[in-house]
Amino acid sequence: MLDKTHDQALLSWVDSANGHPQFPIQNLPFGVFSPPSGVPRVGVAIGDAVLDLAALSRAGLLDTSVSEACDRPELNALMLLGSGARRLIREKLSSLLSERGARMAVSDALYLAADCTLHLPARIGDYTDFYAGIHHARAVGKIFRPDEPLMPNYVHLPIGYHGRSSSIVASGTPVKRPSGQVVGEQGPIFSSSAKLDYELEMAIWIGGANDRGSTVPIRDAQNAVWGYGLLNDWSARDIQSWEYRPLGPFLSKNFITTVSPWVTTPEALAPFRRPAFPRDTRPMDYLFDDADQAGGGVDISLEVSLSTTRSRDEGLPDFVLSVSHSRYLYWTAAQLVAHHASGGCPLRAGDLFGTGTISGPAKHEAGSLLELSTDGRVPVDLPSGETRTYLQDGDEITLRGICKKDGFASISLGECRGRIE
Ligand code: MN
Repeated sequence: MLDKTHDQALLSWVDSANGHPQFPIQNLPFGVFSPPSGVPRVGVAIGDAVLDLAALSRAGLLDTSVSEACDRPELNALMLLGSGARRLIREKLSSLLSERGARMAVSDALYLAADCTLHLPARIGDYTDFYAGIHHARAVGKIFRPDEPLMPNYVHLPIGYHGRSSSIVASGTPVKRPSGQVVGEQGPIFSSSAKLDYELEMAIWIGGANDRGSTVPIRDAQNAVWGYGLLNDWSARDIQSWEYRPLGPFLSKNFITTVSPWVTTPEALAPFRRPAFPRDTRPMDYLFDDADQAGGGVDISLEVSLSTTRSRDEGLPDFVLSVSHSRYLYWTAAQLVAHHASGGCPLRAGDLFGTGTISGPAKHEAGSLLELSTDGRVPVDLPSGETRTYLQDGDEITLRGICKKDGFASISLGECRGRIE
């Protein structure tokens, strides 16, 4: 799985890429961007720049088999070409961006990222949100069901629900506080949500997998994953606690969901693989694969930070609300894919999975304010002198994900940001 594209010593003639905390030449995440006064097309992040793959194709620098798929306002066509095409482009770009001889030809296809608009990476057909963060499931369970925090099914199958793709937006899109039914002193009323929360999740982009009625064997399931990003599943807890019985989340979660714009590939994450979550209960056969157990997990340090109107006015830096880690996911991406398809549900290119909120066992590792403030009962102190139970207007939440390992260049999933209007 490791090759010369992962070499820590590999440098790019794009100077800003060398030592770049997010997008060194070893990362090369895919996305969709518009250059100044241009239409959306496929690009790759490199340092402070975006490389225009449509322009590279027109210049004859990419294989003709992928050219057409790069001149689109979404990654779907490229996803349909499978993991082979994705690897081919990665290898080609790694050469083009490291060999000085290619500089003249490639420079024309580079834009300063700060001048570009980043879009949703794919046309999302279906969106499913899971509940794979076991410490979140246990902590939330403890708040609402002290005697049975973790439901007995949790260790046997990945819990999830079908969400809405219509309200998924790219990082940076303003967040409008929803109104809905909440329980007041005299019973249910229709009101603006007073318990607006975030959820720290990872995004899993599906590259297409199976036809209706067929399944995805666990040993092939990782191949259906086209890439990874960050996802904020904004949640209105007061709406949620009234509406969720008995069918689960509905309007409390479908008003907006923010994703990071860059899709980090399985190839870029290859050095950062780890074993699946250690467990007492062996998963059923259709969810069990030796290779997946040995290396289906991934090592990504996660962070949630907050700025408020006051903290920005006073020039204070973003305040880190919590840190967490992808190792707290009880199910691997392959297990989520295999389970989702196990009854014959087709997974299509551009489908999106949220992992579920990723919290750690410690208090400072909570991936939501529901946990950090124990559903509003224990306010969180901020360096600005303010406190928070839930989010207030003007608050901005940023999710970050960083991979670090000795002997390899650090890479990042980028940022997932949203400010409440
Ligand atoms: Mn969620």
